[in-house]
Amino acid sequence: MLAELRRLVDLQELDKAIQEVTQGLEKLPEDLKAEAAILEELKAEHAAHLKDLEDLKSQRRETETEMADMEAGIKKSRQRLMEIKSNIEYKAMLKEIAFKEDQRDQKETRILELMDLMEAKDQVIAAQKEKTQEQQAFLAQQEVELKVQMKKLKAQLSVLEDQRKKLRKGLPAALLKRYEFIRQRRNGTAIAPVREGVCHGCHMNILPQQFIDLQKGEEILQCPHCQRILYWLGEEAEEEEASQKKVS
Ligand SMILES: [Zn+2]
Repeated sequence: MLAELRRLVDLQELDKAIQEVTQGLEKLPEDLKAEAAILEELKAEHAAHLKDLEDLKSQRRETETEMADMEAGIKKSRQRLMEIKSNIEYKAMLKEIAFKEDQRDQKETRILELMDLMEAKDQVIAAQKEKTQEQQAFLAQQEVELKVQMKKLKAQLSVLEDQRKKLRKGLPAALLKRYEFIRQRRNGTAIAPVREGVCHGCHMNILPQQFIDLQKGEEILQCPHCQRILYWLGEEAEEEEASQKKVS
């Protein structure tokens, strides 16, 4: 194989590694953002539950005041009962008292209901508080890990970029330009191996004469279908790959 082609294959591997590391660097903060959003959601839910609890408390206070008023009204009616002389009026007042007592009992039932609801809400709030604290701790831990991971990736990237710089120096500018041009149009793969006459960039057969020329290893050839630069690993490598395929 031409030395230039071998270098291009190495360059492509480096470029792919650099792309992967760069994507990792972009993705890590995104993952953290998602976790932070979950925490914000939990906090918002917590605030909503607290508001619900406050509403229940104020409903209870209101109902208790209403009940106290009713109690006072019943007391007053009972006192008036003593002063009533007429039998009809007396019966009417008894009826009124019974009606008021029934209403008061309804309020009492409502207060018990509200107390149950408050208790349930307290439990929800406690469970949610725990969940929020867990998420907060998880997020803090993720932040530390992110920093470590980012540092590692940045160091990796700088090593890879140095290697790329060196590798590019050994390649002619025109070939590099061609490589970049194809790479951008072919999803990061500008150079592809040919095996048994087939381009492994697009899986199409190249021309028989092209395959013969490629095997000679004297010039740089491009696939007639996908325009990728082609290289041939040699007969031995082809046989080795074929036998590996059979084993697996
Ligand atoms: Zn091709």
